[in-house]
Amino acid sequence: MIAIDGPAGAGKSTVARLVAKETHLPYLDTGAMYRCVALQALNDNVDPHNQAAVARIASEISIVLEGSATFLNDVDVSNDIRTPEVAAVVSVIAALTPVRDAMRTQQREWIARHGGGVVEGRDIGTVVFPDADVKVFLTASPEERARRRVAQAGGNIDEVAAGISERDHIDSTREDSPLRPAENSVIVDSSGKSIDEVVAEIVNAFEVTRR
Ligand code: C5P
Repeated sequence: MIAIDGPAGAGKSTVARLVAKETHLPYLDTGAMYRCVALQALNDNVDPHNQAAVARIASEISIVLEGSATFLNDVDVSNDIRTPEVAAVVSVIAALTPVRDAMRTQQREWIARHGGGVVEGRDIGTVVFPDADVKVFLTASPEERARRRVAQAGGNIDEVAAGISERDHIDSTREDSPLRPAENSVIVDSSGKSIDEVVAEIVNAFEVTRR
């Protein structure tokens, strides 16, 4: 089991997918789960700060992650969860304890069902799977992260940078499972490194634990 945490735009998804492929482990994107709760709240016109209403949504919706597709109540929302509207509210929703409790339970069930995996998020090594074989904190400079997001999804660089920094601030200052490196984690700064280099570093760290 490999846990990969880090701020927005550090390249976690790209890296985690490739690490999963090389290690033949299934891949779980926990951010997609929080994004599903956010999307449903937007669709239902629920205020993201309304803890009771958002908690109800988190406990009632069905989230299924299969390969790289995400299904919300049996509908493929893989693209719909990546909009700027969802990005703008997801961190507010992810700071709510009942939402985190519901997602954490589902993440542990997913891993139990799959017998391990490469799990990507913000609190995987710190809270969800502190006993992971390898815990990685993947980061990059704020400029680099904003540049990558724009290259990938387009948008105005200043707006993207502001959005990322706002999300990181909420994620790392919330009371419940804030974003921070786990104890004994490998800190990987991907600024100026190729994707292959970062993937190799993580796969090597995992292979060492297998020997
Ligand atoms: O990784 P991604 O950008 O899709 O995550 C979206 C948001 O979901 C993060 O900014 C964070 O607020 C929340 N999240 C979280 N804990 C996780 C994964 C994501 O709080 N394990």
